[in-house]
Order: sequence, then C-alpha cells, then structure tokens
Amino acid sequence: MKNRIWISCLVLLLCLGGCGHKQETAPAPVESQVVQSSEAQATASSTLSESIPSSAESGSTVPEPLTELSVHYIDVGQGAATLVLCDGEAMLIDGGRDEKGTLIQMYLKKQGVTKLKYVIGSHPDGDHVGGLDVAIYKFEPKVILLSNKDSDANTYRDVLDMADAIGVPVTHPEPGDVFPLGSAEFTVAGPIREYEGSNNNSLVILLTHGEKRFLFCGDAEKSAEKDLVDAGVDLDADVYLTGHHGSASSTTRTFLEAMSPEYAVISCGEGNPYGHPHAEVLDLLRESGCKVFRTDEQGSVIVTSDGKTLTWNCAPSETGKPGETGMAASEAITGGETETQKEKGEKWPTGEAPDGAVYVGNTRNQKLHLATCDSLPVEKNQILFDSLEEAERKGFTEENQCQQCQPFYHVRTKEGE
Ligand SMILES: [Zn+2]
Ligand SMILES: [Zn+2]
Repeated sequence: MKNRIWISCLVLLLCLGGCGHKQETAPAPVESQVVQSSEAQATASSTLSESIPSSAESGSTVPEPLTELSVHYIDVGQGAATLVLCDGEAMLIDGGRDEKGTLIQMYLKKQGVTKLKYVIGSHPDGDHVGGLDVAIYKFEPKVILLSNKDSDANTYRDVLDMADAIGVPVTHPEPGDVFPLGSAEFTVAGPIREYEGSNNNSLVILLTHGEKRFLFCGDAEKSAEKDLVDAGVDLDADVYLTGHHGSASSTTRTFLEAMSPEYAVISCGEGNPYGHPHAEVLDLLRESGCKVFRTDEQGSVIVTSDGKTLTWNCAPSETGKPGETGMAASEAITGGETETQKEKGEKWPTGEAPDGAVYVGNTRNQKLHLATCDSLPVEKNQILFDSLEEAERKGFTEENQCQQCQPFYHVRTKEGE
C-alpha cells in the first residue's frame, strides 16, 4: 500500500510535468526527480503488477487498475503521434512527419520517459512513421509493431533500418493479439484483411484501462471500417482518435455507432492542405453528441484515466470549424514550404537546437555539435544528448566532432554551467 501511494505520487508528478505546450514551464526539480526515479519506479511497478488480483479471483468483471494511465495526443502539426503512459511503461503510436522526430524526443523526455516498451507504426505513410526512427534510436523499444503493408518510401525504410540497427525485430501483429502495458492492455483489432492502399491497412489498436477504452485507427478508411463492423469486432470505445485526421474518407455513421465514443480527438495541422478535419465528420460527431478535441486548435491533448473516469487537460473544442479547402488549400499544396512553416507545432526553425539541448548529433553523418553551434544539422537529422557519454554510446566520436564548436573539448565548461 505504501508503495502504491508512492507510485501514485510519481504518476501525479509525471502528469504535473506534462500538461502540453500550454503549460510548458514545469518546475525543474519536479522533472529531474521524475527522471531520476524512473528506474526505481519501473522496478516497483513490475513487482506490484505481479500482485494484481485477476478478475476471476476478485470476483469482479473489471480488473482494478493500479494507477493512472495517460494518453498524450501530441501536437505534431499535420500527422499523428500518441504517447501512452501506464505504471512506468510507455508506448508510442505513430511519430508524426520526418522532421518531428526531435519534437517527439523532447516531448517524451519531458514526461520522464527513458525507455519505450512499444513503438507502433500504424501504416507506412510519412505523417505517421516519419519521426519513429528517432524515437527508436533514442528510446530503444522492446517491441516494434508495424502494419503488414510494406513501402519503399524513404521515411519507412529509415524506420526499418533503425530497428535493425538497435537489433529489435519488427513484428507484424495479427488481429486479436493482446499486449500488456502496465495495468492496461491493448488489442490489435485490425486490419482484418489485406487491402490495396496503405491507409486501409492501418493497424487498429484498442487500448483498455479498467472500464475505459481508447481506439486508434491510423488512417483506416471506409472499407476497413465496414469490414470491422461486419466482422462483429467489439469496437465499443470511450475515446476515438478520429481516423485519417478527420477526413471524410473515414468515420462513417455505422462505424461511429459501433464505437459510440463519448470523446473524439482529431490530430491535424492548422491550415493543412487537405482541409482536415472535413465538415461531414465534424457534423457527424456533433450529431452523435461526441465531444471533440483538436490538436490544430488546442495543441497537445492529454487525457488521464483512473480506470473509471477520464480527465482532460483542456475543455472540448466548440468551434466546429472544418479545415480550409478551395483556393487556400490549392495554394498550400504548391507553396509547401511556407505552409509547413506556418504550421502549428513548428517550435524552432531548421538548423537550430530546441531549448534545453546540450549536444546535437547529426544522424546522417554522425557528427556531434554543441547545441550553441552555428552549423547545426536540419531539424529532421538532429538527435539530442545531455552528456558526451550518452553521445559516445550512440557512436559519436571525438574524431568526427564538429571542428567549429568542438564539443569534446568543451566538456568541462559545459558541465560547470
Ligand atoms: Zn495520416
Ligand atoms: Zn495515411
């Protein structure tokens, strides 16, 4: 019981430390305490999970969860990335676009995550697997789950190469496979057959924590949704990560009725060229009485569960405003770069280190820089380190350091700061 209280405190600290970019200034002592305790916490929680009474023993149909679960729908602009934390274990479902790897690395670090248990790539599209290579490199997951559909896209090859580099084989899960995450678990609900397009082959993940259920559909479209409903898959969910960023290609009325979610989260970028979320989907969600949260309007959306109730970090969106289409959208497609820069979630310009970074490695040429160096790699090729030891463990050497800033010769000055 004492242990349990202690863990609850830690979880509370974790939550206090991570309330999205709207409350970015968590006091430093809290954060460092969490980071320091994470190893002890993992040990304690694994001891505790052995003592969870099974539902049969306790005579209850719903197992009693030990602590909180939190689901972070990270604001990655156009794309999706969700971090799930439960009892000291962490899972990342999708990683945004290629250039979001550093943002995700910083976000996870802020939550006190040092290791990921699972990395899931719903499907090979760049707005989902783009940042996963950095997450795999930095947080060395035990299990990497990818959809069956292969792709030649560079971003996807980067993920496979990185999995190979850290020596973790890629798993293509089957429908019905169940994986534990602390006192929560998730089931692979789909896809239940193979499709032509990449989107429909998205892994469909149903996460359960006590009485609360969260559904993640990647970019699954109408035909995949129909097959799930027709096959009688139990889709009942409390929180629905709206398929394909709220596109009208997805979220049919029948599918929504099968889930009957109380809440829907839409992960999309402000001013995205696809016009996500589409008015049809927003109307349908409103009609069904579903409360809507949106990363394009609200930044990172975080929900915590105690197994019975859900608590959100912000109030639902009331705008009902669809993404812009027509003239603005077609301009956005041709003027890609301006559009990207305008996108919410771009926290620092290309070639600059984010706040708090000490060392910046270039994942392309293995060159190490001080974060203050004038010639940093572009954001998507950055990997951040707190110490030289950490960088060295990842294969960055003195021989190959940046000759301009010479991080290996600045070690004492840096440590003294
Ligand atoms: Zn997508
Ligand atoms: Zn897609």
